[in-house]
Amino acid sequence: MNLELSEEDQMFRDMTRKWVDKEFPKDWCRDLERREHEFPDEFWDKLVAYGAHGIGIAEEYGGQGGSIVTQALFARELSRTAAGLAWIWGVTSFSGSKAIEFCGSEEQKRLFLPKIATGELKTAMSYSEPGGGTDLLGGMKTSATKTDGGWIINGEKIWSTLANVADYLLLMARSDKDVAKRADGVSIFFVPTNSEGISMTEMPKLGMRAVSSCSVHLENVFVPDDLLLGEEGKGWYQSTKTLNNERLINAATCLGMLDGVIEDAVEHMKTRHAFGKPIGQFQVLQHYLADMAMWQKQAELMVHYTAALQAQGRPSAIESAMVKTICSEYVGKAADLGIQILGGMGYSAETDMQRYWRDSRLLRIGPVSNEMARNQIAESFGLPRSY
Ligand SMILES: Cc1cc2nc3c(=O)[nH]c(=O)nc-3n(C[C@H](O)[C@H](O)[C@H](O)COP(=O)(O)OP(=O)(O)OC[C@H]3O[C@@H](n4cnc5c(N)ncnc54)[C@H](O)[C@@H]3O)c2cc1C
Repeated sequence: MNLELSEEDQMFRDMTRKWVDKEFPKDWCRDLERREHEFPDEFWDKLVAYGAHGIGIAEEYGGQGGSIVTQALFARELSRTAAGLAWIWGVTSFSGSKAIEFCGSEEQKRLFLPKIATGELKTAMSYSEPGGGTDLLGGMKTSATKTDGGWIINGEKIWSTLANVADYLLLMARSDKDVAKRADGVSIFFVPTNSEGISMTEMPKLGMRAVSSCSVHLENVFVPDDLLLGEEGKGWYQSTKTLNNERLINAATCLGMLDGVIEDAVEHMKTRHAFGKPIGQFQVLQHYLADMAMWQKQAELMVHYTAALQAQGRPSAIESAMVKTICSEYVGKAADLGIQILGGMGYSAETDMQRYWRDSRLLRIGPVSNEMARNQIAESFGLPRSY
């Protein structure tokens, strides 16, 4: 497989890098990240002006075209300065639009994708529940009960990113309890957030503070039939393609943060002096940097490889689990060393190392924990399921 980017992809990457440096400088993102409980509209508006929400959406649905490769390139470039704020783009433009593309009817695609592409519509993903994120099916208490013309949804979701500013929740609920396999009987709904019976509370957290995380309470929420996404009862199976894509985009986000870590570490090693020399002359720090560079190269190759597999429609579940695990662990180790290289300034809220460290920490936990990803990888060798 040729892992070189096409000329077109290289041009897109270079153009995006310049735009990110101009519109999303690191100090601006740093200030924005501190702003809790207030959606950063200016961040969203810059994405709209660039047409970023349409990247990866087919032109016939009002998007800019491009593939998962283009989306991964964009996620990497944006995350280099924006770090976890990149999810302001990702939650709608990636998770929301992909779910509609993969599971939605033609009518739903025509209705929602053009609005996502222009930034007119925001979505959030409400899968996890207080009872469990890793054991999503075991912990799922949210129910959808059939009624005339639609469904009545009751339950509690947790950690729904940006749900309080979204127009729709992509929500997973059990629509049939009487099933032999618990993966059956689960459906996905596109729930308007202004529906009667929905209330939300924001959850405070370690990183990505301007990107809200919400618990969502649903009490007798009516959802019309035409907002069921995909086939009733098959939601779990239908979501796997979106989830594999999401793991890749998470990995690309980690790679972008790793790029940012290396940039800042090199800059500091060249400009900070100790014992009459730049600290970059100390061999131990050079070795830290060499390790980071090797992690970056491995992460990059694995992101390109998995993106190419997905773009060709080839099976990629194991590679998606691997790339997400590799990239989230490499960026975590690199950001930790980055803090060490910056010394006291690495611990300061006035530099970005702590932001890369805090934001990337999540990606070892979600959207799938690295322990669960490893279970999946080990099982692919024919070993018995460990749980
Ligand atoms: C900031 C943030 C944003 C999020 N955004 C969203 C969102 O937008 N939408 C959404 O639906 N969810 C979201 N999540 C939820 C996220 O997907 C879950 O936190 C994640 O899946 C882990 O689930 P959990 O927190 O319930 O941990 P648990 O499932 O309770 O796991 C706890 C620990 O047990 C380990 N463990 C569990 N089962 C096994 C096993 N079989 N083998 C080995 N180890 C195991 C886990 O790896 C972990 O270390 C978000 C979470 C956070 C923190």
